[in-house]
Amino acid sequence: MPDRIPLSVPHLPPSAHTYLKECLETNFVSSVGPFVAKFEEAFAKAIGARYAVACSSGTAALHVALRLAGVTTDSEVAVPTFTFIASVNAISYNGARPLFVDSEARTWNLDPNQIVDEVEERARRGETLPSAIEVVHILGYPADIEPILRLGQNFEIPVIEDAAEALGASYVEGPLAGRQVGTVGRLGCFSFNGNKVITTGGGGMIVTDDPELADSAQHLTTQARVAGLEYIHDEVGYNYRLTNIAAALGLAQLELLDEYLEKKRAISSRYTERLSGLGLESREHTSWASPSYWLYCGLLPDHAAPIPSLLSKLGDLGIEARPVWSPIHKQKPYAGSRTLGGHIAESIAARAVSLPSSVGLTEEEQERVIVALETILGD
Ligand SMILES: *Cc1c(COP(=O)(O)O)cnc(C)c1O
Repeated sequence: MPDRIPLSVPHLPPSAHTYLKECLETNFVSSVGPFVAKFEEAFAKAIGARYAVACSSGTAALHVALRLAGVTTDSEVAVPTFTFIASVNAISYNGARPLFVDSEARTWNLDPNQIVDEVEERARRGETLPSAIEVVHILGYPADIEPILRLGQNFEIPVIEDAAEALGASYVEGPLAGRQVGTVGRLGCFSFNGNKVITTGGGGMIVTDDPELADSAQHLTTQARVAGLEYIHDEVGYNYRLTNIAAALGLAQLELLDEYLEKKRAISSRYTERLSGLGLESREHTSWASPSYWLYCGLLPDHAAPIPSLLSKLGDLGIEARPVWSPIHKQKPYAGSRTLGGHIAESIAARAVSLPSSVGLTEEEQERVIVALETILGD
């Protein structure tokens, strides 16, 4: 039996070992220590944001970012239904509720037309508008955010970006050309969980260009403790800081980000090229987007066997592949939530599979995946 090919596993370079050793030797293992600030500074610089505040997870980052955008009990936050559930749970942690928005067929991200129409229609009728719009750049593909930013400006609705899966993706045309995802909304959030573009074991980042929001993010993630020796806290905060050990890991990988993205791009174009003949559809290429290709994900042809059977056949060949998320408006905690459309998200979810996309995937391994799919889908 050949080695198992995992879906997406971390790449830990030699510098990670060096930096971790430094943490151990200097006794800085908690959230106090020089790597946290170094990682924050390097991260902000890498993506072109003014400030970056490291957090214990991407979910924690979203929780705080939404709170800083003014989301509170009884707020309604527009969010795509086709996303990982953490995007939506962060709304609930703030006591608020989601307004689910369907995907657009080309990028699978939330459909800007639906949210624009909904807000304009509500405004005409004098109804309450959503308190915030959370745009998610799923699977490394930049969302069509420009119309949403304009909507946010016109109606004074803050736009928050969940860029957990899209570190390194950017806009290359139009008014946002040259800007990275996560830096165009009021606040942007990233994740460094185990299978993301870079990983700190667990961790996240809030980025913003607003110095006051950056200060508040820092404050809320450290138990809202007021500077000084005494234990004075001026609001309810959280223990959400990243540790020095985690930041050391993050910094080591961030230094290799360009290489990682290059590798992911090569993996994705190889799949696209080789699998299109089998009827596996990749996302449409839009000229304004430069994706990060975090995880290659394709749509199975209509005639293909159901996904569970495909995944188990691949599993028998030592290849890990996965379905994508079930749309969140269909999941128990959010059943019955207000939802704009939803059928496109449902049809994508029914046909999409993610294929092995680790930075360390070799060409031979990828060839094995492709040949396996040719055999299974060609049957
Ligand atoms: C991974 C992920 C998160 C949550 O990040 P964690 O670091 O796992 O808490 C949020 N949103 C999306 C879209 C994600 O993929």
